[in-house]
Amino acid sequence: MIIDGHNDLVLRTLEGEEVRHVHLDKAAEADFAGGFFALFVPSPKPAKPPESLHYAMPLPDPIPQEEAARVAAELVEVFHSLPVELATSPDDFRPGRVAAILHLEGAEPLAADLSGLDEWYARGLRSLGLVWSRANAFAEGVPFRFPASPDTGPGLTAEGEALVRRCNELGILVDLSHLNEAGFWDVARLSSAPLVATHSNAHALCASTRNLTDAQLDAIRDSGGVVGINFAVAFLRSDGANEEDTPLTEIVRHAQYIAGRIGIDHVAFGSDFDGADVPAELDGIAGFPKLVETFRAGGFDDEAIEKITHRNWLRVLGETWR
Ligand code: ZN
Repeated sequence: MIIDGHNDLVLRTLEGEEVRHVHLDKAAEADFAGGFFALFVPSPKPAKPPESLHYAMPLPDPIPQEEAARVAAELVEVFHSLPVELATSPDDFRPGRVAAILHLEGAEPLAADLSGLDEWYARGLRSLGLVWSRANAFAEGVPFRFPASPDTGPGLTAEGEALVRRCNELGILVDLSHLNEAGFWDVARLSSAPLVATHSNAHALCASTRNLTDAQLDAIRDSGGVVGINFAVAFLRSDGANEEDTPLTEIVRHAQYIAGRIGIDHVAFGSDFDGADVPAELDGIAGFPKLVETFRAGGFDDEAIEKITHRNWLRVLGETWR
């Protein structure tokens, strides 16, 4: 059974674009049981994507809360229109069906005084990233840069600190992917839940701002948390290139590094399907069985594969949700 830390099927569906990766009709065959389905309010696309292998994209402009809330309402509607079950308990993940965690990627739709958070929870929200790669009322995300450190800006605002505490109380998972390093350490200090990066990789192997330094990985281990390995080729390859002709062994390489450093209990999948360019041979969720075979060939035994594919996510969800 596969549980995955991140996909952008909801936005892709809202925008009327063709599904590239999360073909739900292939779920049963691929043993895909769902995972985190992001609600993401997009920034305007940059006029020019990076051409050079070394790049430093500017931080996109903030999105006003009212505007973000309006788009988020549309995203929620799309989410509920998908042929999936809303996941609010680890028991909701079962072979033969797809369960979806309602995940807010960037907290822009929330009022800074958190007045709407209880209503969001009541509607099924069980995971949120304080930020996408931009600034908001709560924190600041990393701009997309390579090679570069994730230490790119200030930490959490007072509102951001209050949001982390309230998420802990409600049992909403706080996702660290996209957050800058100062913000990461603020959450590490404040949060009572296991630390989670739903879709990030090892900075030691691919020096993108989106990846985690060794010290960040160690903190995730110490909290009992988990890292969802991101399949985006730009966050896998040591040259940072956005090149889909990339072997599946690049995904295994990051899993080996992270498991080697912090242990197999802290490694999972966080594909970024339908939100990023991934190895072409994967062919979306249909490629999970092939990916698992590549992990086996890379030295992961049955128990390790069970942990990576679903047991680590289930443990962390069980310790985070109420
Ligand atoms: Zn993302």
